[in-house]
This record gives sequence, structure tokens and C-alpha cells, in this order.
Amino acid sequence: MLAFPKSALINHGIRFTNHIHYQLSPEVLTTQTISRGEGRLSDTGALVINTGEFTGRSPDDKFIVLDNITKDTVNWNDFNIPFDAKQFDLLYDKMMEYLANKEIWVRDSYACAESAYRMNIRVINENPWSNLFAYNMFLRPTGAELDDFTPDWHLIQAPNFRADPATDGTRHHNFAIINFSKKVILIGGTGYTGEMKKGIFSVLNFILPYNRAVLSMHCSANMGKRGDTAIFFGLSGTGKTTLSADPCRQLIGDDEHGWTKDSVFNFEGGCYAKTIDLTEEKEPEIFRAVKPGALVENVPFIDSSDQLDFTSKKITPNTRMSYPLHFISNAMEPSVGDIPKNIFFLTCDSYGVLPPVSKLTAGQAMYQFISGYTAKIAGTEAGIVEPKATFSACFGAPFLPLHPGHYAAMLGKKMTAHQVNVWMINTGWSGGGYGVGKRIKLDYTRAMITAALEGKLIDVGYEPHPVFGMQIPTSCPGVPSEILNPRSTWSDKTAYDEAAKKLALQFIKNFEKYAGGVSAEILAAAPAV
Ligand code: ATP
Ligand code: MN
Repeated sequence: MLAFPKSALINHGIRFTNHIHYQLSPEVLTTQTISRGEGRLSDTGALVINTGEFTGRSPDDKFIVLDNITKDTVNWNDFNIPFDAKQFDLLYDKMMEYLANKEIWVRDSYACAESAYRMNIRVINENPWSNLFAYNMFLRPTGAELDDFTPDWHLIQAPNFRADPATDGTRHHNFAIINFSKKVILIGGTGYTGEMKKGIFSVLNFILPYNRAVLSMHCSANMGKRGDTAIFFGLSGTGKTTLSADPCRQLIGDDEHGWTKDSVFNFEGGCYAKTIDLTEEKEPEIFRAVKPGALVENVPFIDSSDQLDFTSKKITPNTRMSYPLHFISNAMEPSVGDIPKNIFFLTCDSYGVLPPVSKLTAGQAMYQFISGYTAKIAGTEAGIVEPKATFSACFGAPFLPLHPGHYAAMLGKKMTAHQVNVWMINTGWSGGGYGVGKRIKLDYTRAMITAALEGKLIDVGYEPHPVFGMQIPTSCPGVPSEILNPRSTWSDKTAYDEAAKKLALQFIKNFEKYAGGVSAEILAAAPAV
């Protein structure tokens, strides 16, 4: 059992002197969770918990403290909401008061697999399973590294602490607040574990590009046998985690990476996979990670059994599982790869308009990166629901404290300097929009990505998309040619042309706010209507 320097906590106003669980193993955290009645084991030994009221992030309740560091640097908007510094101190004290006579779980961990950028994090939780999430998702220091561990940041998370919006300056009883001056992330009122990883991600999305000239990216990454790295940008549900788990390639990471002058590195030490409709057949790598140590969230059990029902959306469609990176068979450790040869932009276009695979020019790549498009189905209920377009700059606006132009300019320079191929992959609908067509088969998407990575799309014919301009291959190994051009998969061609035009207009409208600040080459890549 590791001893924990209590004085270190006291220096941070954390006054509790009893009940500190420090650096416990996944086994012990699992046992404690079960004996507290907060979780159950699945038949394959994974710990299964419910996150409570929140089963997803709450972007409306994410704040950044307004101070000398952030005042003129942060791009204040709906995702970066200012929080008063004095109000933060009061709320911090209130939370410390709340935690003072509670059992707490402390874990020392770090972010950034590339040692030059390592950021030590001391995580403090109110329950053992939140601490298991931190074990799975952040990087794990060795015993020797723990001997002289100095935290750079503190992440304090108390799901059962409720703020009072009337006096605490929050919008609701739940909140996630980043304080760059104090180097603290304070999360309260929500048990959704993803708030912890995305809190650290937001911090790195400020520090790395702004202070260290490293491009931070919301993308997954893997590397082939020839050392060829691929990165996959995309908003939630577009396939970053699913498609980066490829048995023929080494997994670098599934969600958050940095691009330095000579490497791509993972910020995290684990994956956070969606598990809705998870099957061994479709996603063997992820399915096999459902084992002791994995933390499964909000997946119900099949009645009177210990078997998980991955098809159930009874609790939420956003069911999840966290696990350490090495649960995927060919994970790369340390998770640092070479500079990318290929970039994929993943979109889940439920309008069925964009081609399942296409090649982008440099101008188109920048246009798509700044646009950050996806369109998922709006509801989960049966019947036809209108898809809703989402435009999220750099495929990650909710996590980007700086202006998107900052990240886009860095990516543009790197893409040109390293002659990177850029592909767009539509993992969404084909043969019609949602309600008419179907989601493209995962096997086909995998085959298209493999073909692009293995150079098998070099010597094939291409045709430009009539509205969006990207080049569509006319053949691709392992994929029926008829599905490559989306228009040919729709039985009603007029309906396709109308849908394409409608989507193009949404792109153009969204881009208006960036038009003044980008080059003619990027502007020329706008869809033509
Ligand atoms: P997040 O940022 O929220 O972690 P993500 O980009 O990692 O999202 P995934 O977890 O990979 O998204 O989710 C993609 C989901 O879509 C999976 O459940 C996967 O099974 C499903 N899916 C269905 N068809 C496809 C396809 N053709 N390509 C990729 N994923 C598909
Ligand atoms: Mn993911």
C-alpha cells in the first residue's frame, strides 16, 4: 500500500485527514465499488456502473475562469463560458468543505505520452469507480516515478456535490470549471466520467498550441508496419475509436493527440469506446476488452443474468466503456508515432449525400477542417427523424479554448510541409438519407481506409463530386463500385440533387463567419450551388 503525503493536499486547501485511498489497483477499486453497492461484475469480469443523472457531457455547464491568462487568449463562446475568479475560490472552498469528512480516492497520473510534454495530474474523486476511470484513461506512472511525483494540475471531481446556481455562479447544480491560474479542474454535480478526460483535453488544447507550438487534435491515430501513421478526425460517433482499432496496425490512441515537429503522441493512456450494439463479430478488438479492469457505463444487464445487453438504449444511447490502451492487442507503448502520411476526416452524414471515400485537395482539406461537419439522426425513437447538421470547427469546437483559426493554421502548415494525403470518409448513410437509406457497412468503410493506406487508391480513376468537389474513386478493392458514388446509390436522383444542394447551402451559411479570415484557395473549395 502506497503512503500518501497528506500535507500535499492540505497545501491545496484540502483538509481531510482521514479516509484517503491512494493509488489503489483496479482490482481493489472494483471490489470497493461492488461492496459499496455502486456496481456489478459482468460475466466476463468487467465492472458495470451507472453514471447517474448524467450519461453524457454537459457543454452548457463548462466554464473557464476569466483571469490574466485567459482574458485575451480564450475564444469566449457558448463552449468557453467565463467564470469569475473570486466565485471560483468560493466554490472551491465549498467543495473542499464538502469533501472534508468524506472518504476520497486520490490518484497520481499524467497526460502526454511524449515525455517533453508530460503533464502530471493529481485526480481526487468521491468514489472508487471514478478513480478507476482515471486509472484507465490517464497515463500510469511507474513506482519510481511516484516517489517524486509533483502534480502540475489537480482534477477534483465530486458527483454528489451540488452547486447552488443562485449563489455559486453556475448555471445548474452541475459544473466543470477550468482554472488556468490555479491549475485546477473542478467538476461537481455530474458523475459522467467523460467530463474528466475532456477537461484535461481542453487544458492541453490551450497549453500545447499556445505555449509549446504543438498542434493538439481531436482525433484517433494508428501506425502501419512501415511506420506510416494515420490520424482520424471526427466528431462524436463518427468512428474514431472503432476505425482506429485495426488488427493490422498499432493503435496510438483513440481520441486526443498532439502533433510535434517530428511525432504524433497520445495524450491519454486508455480508450473510451461507445458500446451501443457492440458485437464480437463487428468490433472484435473492443468486444474483447470487456474484461476485468474495464469500466462499463450505463449498459443494462439481460434480465436475471450477468450478461450485458449492448443493444439496449434503456439508460442512454451513449453507453461507454473505458479500458487501458494495452487492452487492444497491438497497442503502441509508449504511444508515440511518426508524422502522419494520411489524414482522414470522418463524418457520419445521415443525409446520405457525401461519398463514402474521397480525396481532398489542400484547399478542400482546410475548408472541411474548419467546417467540421457531421449529421447524426436527431432522435433515437423509431420512425423517420430529420437528420440535423452539426458544424463544429476543427472537429472539436467544444474542447478548443483558442480560436479555431489557430489550430487550422497549424494543421495547414503541417499538411503542406509533410505532403500529407487527406481523405474524407462518410461513415453515415448511403442509398438515401436516414429513414430511406442505410448506414454504410463497417466492413466497407474499413476496406476503403485500408485501400487508401496501402496505396491502392493511387492508380484508380476518379470523378469530382458535382457539388462538393472532392475526388471520388471509381473503384476500390473490397468494395462494390456502385456504392462509391452516392448519387448512384439513390433510386431518386432528383431527391439526391436536392439533398446535396440543401446540405451545400448549410455548409456555405456556416462558413460565412470564417470567410473573411481564410485564403482564396480555401474559399474556392466551398461547395458550388
Ligand atoms: P467519440 O468522440 O464520442 O468517442 P468516436 O468518433 O470515437 O466518438 P465511435 O466510438 O468509433 O465514435 O463510434 C462509431 C459508432 O458507429 C460505433 O458504435 C460503430 O459500431 C458504429 N458504426 C456503424 N457503421 C459504421 C461505419 N461504417 N464506420 C464506423 N463506425 C460505424
Ligand atoms: Mn471515441
